[in-house]
Amino acid sequence: MSSNASRASNDGNEPTPFYEALAKALKKRKAKLESICPSSDPVSKRILEEYGAIFVADKKVIPPPLCVFTTEEQVTKFQDAAGWEVERIGFDDVELQPEAMKKLRKAREDAQKEGLDITPRDGSEAARRNYEDSVRLWNSRFEPALDYWLAQGRLTQAQVDRLRSLPLSQQVAEVLELEKTGIYFSKDLSKSILYSIAAPGASQHIAMLAFDVEQFENPRIREIMAKHGWFQTVLSDLPHFTFLGLKEKDLPKHGLRNLEINGQMFWIPNVPGVHPGLDK
Ligand SMILES: [Zn+2]
Repeated sequence: MSSNASRASNDGNEPTPFYEALAKALKKRKAKLESICPSSDPVSKRILEEYGAIFVADKKVIPPPLCVFTTEEQVTKFQDAAGWEVERIGFDDVELQPEAMKKLRKAREDAQKEGLDITPRDGSEAARRNYEDSVRLWNSRFEPALDYWLAQGRLTQAQVDRLRSLPLSQQVAEVLELEKTGIYFSKDLSKSILYSIAAPGASQHIAMLAFDVEQFENPRIREIMAKHGWFQTVLSDLPHFTFLGLKEKDLPKHGLRNLEINGQMFWIPNVPGVHPGLDK
C-alpha cells in the first residue's frame, strides 16, 4: 500500500465553489471581500484565486485583512494583532500564529516518534516574514529575470528601466501581463513568478501561517503535516506548507480542491479555469 493511500480525496463529491465558501468564512469574521481583495485589482484577484486557501482557514487563526499588504506599517499592525509564538528548532527561531505553532509542535512530536523530524528550510525565514522580506524575495526573482530577457532581446533597455522604476503594485501587474506572452519571471524562467515567490506583500509567511519544511520530499512527513492541519497550497512551491487547521476530508467543503502533481497533493481554491495547463 502506498503511503498516500490514506490521504483523502473528494470521494467523488464536488468541492464547494471557492467564492461560496469564502463568502461564508468572511461573514463569520464580519469581513467584506471587496475590502480584502478589491475585484477592480486584477493582481489581488489572481493572488486570491491562486493561493487564497488561508482565507478559508479555521477560525482559530486570523487571516490577513488584505490580499496584498502595501506597507510595512500595515504588516506590523496585523502581525501584532494576530500575535505569534517563537520556537527554537535547531539553531533557528521560527515564528508562527499560536494555533499554527501548536500544531507544528504536535506534528514534530509525531515525526520524532517515528525517528523523523520536521525542521525549517533556510532558517528563520521558513516561517514569519515582514513586508521588507517579501520585497527582497520578489527582487531576487524580478532582477535576474529582467537581465535575462534583456540579454535575450525580448525586452529593451527602456522597458527594463521603466519596469524597475514602477511602484511595486504596478510592477507586479506588468510582470503578470508580460508572463502572458511567455516572458516568465520564476527562478528557472519557465513559469509564472507566482509559482516561485509570492507577490510582495502577499506572502502567507507574512500571515504567519506558512512554514517551509526541509523534509518535504518524505511522503510520511507530508502525511503527518496534513494530519495536523498543514497542507501544500501553492503549486510548484514544494517545501511550502500552509496552516489551515482543518481536517483534510473537510477541505472540499471549504471551497478547496485537490490537485496531485508528481505524487504531491495540493489544495487550491476551487475556481474553474485558474490553472489552465495544470488541470488534467
Ligand atoms: Zn514558503
